[in-house]
Amino acid sequence: MSGIVWLALDGVGHPKDAPPGSAWEQELPALRPLIEAGLPLDATLGVPGLPQSGTGQSCWLTGQDAVRRMGRGGAGEHFGPYPGPTLQALLREASLPVRLKRGGGSAALLNFYPPGYFAAHARRPRHGCFPYAFLAAGLTLNPPGLPSVAPTLGLGYAAPWPATLGLDEVQRSGEAVARAAGGHDLLVLDLWLSDLLGHQGRPDAPLELLSAGRRYLRHLDALLAGLLGAGARVAISSDHGNFENLGVKSHTLARVPFAGSGVDLGRPGNIAEAGAVMAGWFGLG
Ligand SMILES: [Zn+2]
Repeated sequence: MSGIVWLALDGVGHPKDAPPGSAWEQELPALRPLIEAGLPLDATLGVPGLPQSGTGQSCWLTGQDAVRRMGRGGAGEHFGPYPGPTLQALLREASLPVRLKRGGGSAALLNFYPPGYFAAHARRPRHGCFPYAFLAAGLTLNPPGLPSVAPTLGLGYAAPWPATLGLDEVQRSGEAVARAAGGHDLLVLDLWLSDLLGHQGRPDAPLELLSAGRRYLRHLDALLAGLLGAGARVAISSDHGNFENLGVKSHTLARVPFAGSGVDLGRPGNIAEAGAVMAGWFGLG
């Protein structure tokens, strides 16, 4: 059976918890039905404060309650965006890429990392949870021989975030990833532009930001259409809310999507339980 393509969204709250007028309110023929058929999950883990990427992504990657690992005396704390020593240790021990590799499986992170990324990290190593976990597994960034996907999904990096790729090109890149999944257990895309856009949010958000948000979801929809059209098994996750409410600058308490095609989502109630479901797909339950 073909491997699983994991689209790990950053800062995308579930449409059920989005305010009126959000970027979710548009035609997204591949993405929206998949999200609707999936589950809205709690990302707070019962801990006060706004969920963050360090703990949220660690929950998904390990299937453990990474939020409870943080804070004094087991009180729990949302932490991020980058994993610190505690979360790094958890990722080295229990993250999905590490456990897959240990068991003889194959995984790859398909994000394209530009030369500037490596230059910056040579000066100050500060990887997000996904690149950290793949490196901890002994895997490389920009793996050779596999499709390389710009995590902006064909939008410019800065305002007004114009389209630099056509939707047809994004769809073809989804098809290429689907073909590559035939030779691997797990292919991952760490898709962070949504969180970057979400942090630009404010009560009087300019039209160009709202347009960029809508454009981003259309590009994600095209990628997914390519994946599904080529028969890929797909999982979609998100670490916390943010992007679904461009009227605020911060993360949100929104529930997050857990969706998939060709996979059994089970009955998780939160993102740590969902991470455990994902591990189970690879016999790592
Ligand atoms: Zn953020």
